[in-house]
This record gives sequence, structure tokens and C-alpha cells, in this order.
Amino acid sequence: MSKRIIQLIKETGKDISLIKSFARRSGIVISNEYQKISDQDFERIQKLLEEVIDTIGNKGKGSKELYLTNELPVEFTNVNPFTVLQTDILQNGLRKKQASFIEYNDKKIESVFDDFEAYSICRGLNVSRATKIARDFFRDQNITTRIEAHELAMSALKKYGWKMLSFVVRFPPLPFQSFNVDNLFTELDRKTKDADLPVIRVAYSNEKGSPEKLELKFYVEREADKTHVFKNVIEIKNKSTNSIVAQIARNGKIVPSEGSRNIVPIIQLFITNAANIGKLQVNYGLETGECSICGRELTDATSIKRGIGPVCIKNIAR
Ligand SMILES: [Zn+2]
Repeated sequence: MSKRIIQLIKETGKDISLIKSFARRSGIVISNEYQKISDQDFERIQKLLEEVIDTIGNKGKGSKELYLTNELPVEFTNVNPFTVLQTDILQNGLRKKQASFIEYNDKKIESVFDDFEAYSICRGLNVSRATKIARDFFRDQNITTRIEAHELAMSALKKYGWKMLSFVVRFPPLPFQSFNVDNLFTELDRKTKDADLPVIRVAYSNEKGSPEKLELKFYVEREADKTHVFKNVIEIKNKSTNSIVAQIARNGKIVPSEGSRNIVPIIQLFITNAANIGKLQVNYGLETGECSICGRELTDATSIKRGIGPVCIKNIAR
């Protein structure tokens, strides 16, 4: 049995472009409203559409509507064989361990890393051979280049030292359970009262010790004239490097973005400060000289000392 898209439009009251985008996420390509799809696909898209819980934003002529959705992007459903190892590095950092001998085929070298650490370090090294080795490992876990990975990781340790290595480590873009994210979501939910797309601003110190600006917002996907706001997903963006660090779901799962740099120290910052997001935000103002709430430049001495501008402090006191 099959049904036409036009029936879905009638039953849900949603328009075709929204249906197209939800269908695409389920791997179904829709070209027009008379197209037929299986009953099973019909029900699947219908269910997703029912999760579009609300629309926000001004709906004047020419303005874009924001669709709030409870679903998770498809990346969150990927299977990750490294989830325990990733969580361990985030919670404990790269720990100094006793060296052990790694043997593979007829080769033998001394290394202080486990395989996952060695490949994760290779992944973050700016050396094409190293990134290729890491890519092959994370793709099929065929570790014929195991010795080479450990050699590269060990020479990186000599070159950069322990502390710097956490800035080098990169994770594959696979979902894993991270930390208690309740406070982050509570903070963004609270701010939703004042803005359609609220922002949490946080500063962190990069490998050179200088502050970089991070922005946390609900994940937004734009296509055609529709803007989907995933209210169960926060995206961390490094505004200083203009790159996406990771996505975090309300259930605590985190997906590092492909090629995301410095993910370990950034996520560790949130793990360490999970209980006090407010303090993290004020630190932003103190470190960057911009208002912790709205991001505008602070000009008077009192505001700079406080990390919050005169208008925003009044709104807080409200
Ligand atoms: Zn402000």
C-alpha cells in the first residue's frame, strides 16, 4: 500500500517544504505533493511532524518562521564503539601512565598511550600521514599501522608535552555519553523567555593561554525558507575560530563536529563548571570585555569590572 504526500499535507496541516525536509532526514526524497510513498514511510514522517511542537518568531511578511522540534539530528543515532574511551579522556584527561611495549608483527616500541589515545592524537596532528592513519583506524579499526600511530603520538608528546596534548586530541564525530548537561539546558530554556534564539557566552583559554569566545545556542538547521530549531540540542560554536565544536543533546549525548579542534579542553571546561553555568558566563564578560549576556562591548569602568552591561544588569535584577 502507498499514500500520496498531498494526503500528509491535509492530515498534518504542515506545508510541503517542511514535509520535504523531515522526509529527507529519514532518507526519503520528495519532489512533489503527488508523489507516492509507502504506508510505513508515511507514518514515520507523520510521527516526526507531530513532534514539531510549536513555531516561534515573528510571522510577518517576508520574515522567516522558526520551527521548534523535539527530534534529534540523525548523527545522534550513529553507533560508537569508542564511547567509553572518549568519556574516560574527557573525565580524566590524558593521564601520565607507565610506558609499556607495543608489539605488532615484528616491530616493538615503547609507548605511554593506549591505542585509542594514540589514534586520537594522530587525528589532531597537522601531518597528513598521521591523519590518514587515524582516519583508517576510526573507519574500520584495522590497525596495521598501530606501531606508526604510537610512534607519532610519542613524538608529539616529546614535542608538545602533556598539557598541550589535550589541545591536540580529536575525537571522531560519533555520539557518546558526556556529562550532566541539565544546567546548560535549564539556562537556555530560561533565556528563551527573552529571545527566540538565546545564547550562552563562555570564554575559554586556548593553548596559548588567550581567551577564545564560545557561543552555545539551540542547534538550528536552515533550508529553503524554513528554519528548524532543535530545542533538545545545543550547538557549541567557537566564535574566535568560527568553527563548530560539538552538539550536545538533552539526554547528555555529545557529537563532536568533524575536524573539531580543542574539543577536549572545551568540554572539560563544561564538565568542571556544570554546576555553575552562571559563573562561567560572568567570566566571559571579565575575560573578553564584552557583556556576558548580550555580547556588546563594555565601555564604562563599572560594567567592565562586573562583566555585564548597564541594560542587561537591570534585566537580571528584574
Ligand atoms: Zn548586555
